[in-house]
Amino acid sequence: MKFNTKTIHGGQHHDPAYGAVMQPIYQTTTYAQSTPGGHKGYEYSRTHNPTRNALENAFASIENGKHGLAFGSGLAAIDAVLKLLQPGDEVVSTNDLYGGTYRLFTKIYENFGIKFHFIGMDNADKINDYITPNTKLIWVETPTNPMMNVIDIKSISAIAKANNLLLAVDNTFATPYLQQPLELGADIVMHSVTKYLSGHSDVVMGALIVKDNALAEKLYFIQNASGAICGPQDSFLVLRGLKTLHVRMQRHCENGKAIAEYLNNHPKIEKVYWPGLKDHPNHDVAKAQMNDFGGMVSFVTKGNNYKEAIKIVENLKLFTLAESLGGVESLAGHPASMTHASIPKEEREKTGVVDSLIRLSVGIEDIDDLIADLQQAIG
Ligand SMILES: *Cc1c(COP(=O)(O)O)cnc(C)c1O
Repeated sequence: MKFNTKTIHGGQHHDPAYGAVMQPIYQTTTYAQSTPGGHKGYEYSRTHNPTRNALENAFASIENGKHGLAFGSGLAAIDAVLKLLQPGDEVVSTNDLYGGTYRLFTKIYENFGIKFHFIGMDNADKINDYITPNTKLIWVETPTNPMMNVIDIKSISAIAKANNLLLAVDNTFATPYLQQPLELGADIVMHSVTKYLSGHSDVVMGALIVKDNALAEKLYFIQNASGAICGPQDSFLVLRGLKTLHVRMQRHCENGKAIAEYLNNHPKIEKVYWPGLKDHPNHDVAKAQMNDFGGMVSFVTKGNNYKEAIKIVENLKLFTLAESLGGVESLAGHPASMTHASIPKEEREKTGVVDSLIRLSVGIEDIDDLIADLQQAIG
């Protein structure tokens, strides 16, 4: 089955009770048993729920995995991966991480004796310098948020395999429409489903997808034991959202390209970060690894003028000034004061998140209206 069919049918079955074409919302906590232990595969909804299971099967299908797990948020999914570790273990991670991931690693898991190394991974070999006998996990985000650095998953997976480490990839920005990390050698794919997979800015959810049965067992155990699951209503909404993932992504990419090119030619804009631009430092890796370049575009104003950047985001009318990304509607964000405010200024600026950086989540509206809005806001 090809990707554009999997988003609609992958891992899905008509409901056996009445043949409902859409997965029903099983809004129930528990399931009747005929005799103790005599049930139809479902006992309690933290452990299993038919609506959530249908969604988990869909996740596994679109990422070419074998097992999908759905959580109450992207961070809950990351949290479950970190629970595979023990005090004393070490993690090598990309340095321009999503702010919430950085916060979880440094403010929660460092307290439990886990050590993190945050490094640029432009050159995969650099990872070798940070691997010790205690290293257990490599955590990669690509493209990164908000600088759009693209990291070569295949090369990193070779290093992970050579050192017997798990490789987890946060695939939130790319989605499986653009890249499938398990095919490139990753062990775990993580999603903030809140973003493109849900696609309509109405659900907070996370997911993990894996191929390996033993790894899946461990993660299912953590999912049930820690309990950070999502509910059946939200599962239903995301099952519905997934069905249009491929058509939404196609338009996100088209609009992203048009806006990146428009900004790149704008006299008041200093620099545009979009992996599809030929002068993007990782353009070649992006071309090899991704099917297209996505709808996330960051840019810096001429002279890195903070006030100018704030004026632009305030002036935008069609782009809503808001956190988050990946919905059908266009959003603009100011990472330094919004999504990345939890990262210290000097750490932030080292990775390019300067005070005038603006991040756009380009939606699927008519491109003429989006460009007209940028035009009036930038002047
Ligand atoms: C939003 C986001 C997360 C966190 O997901 P939540 O659903 O907000 O918990 C993690 N990684 C990336 C890249 C994100 O954009």
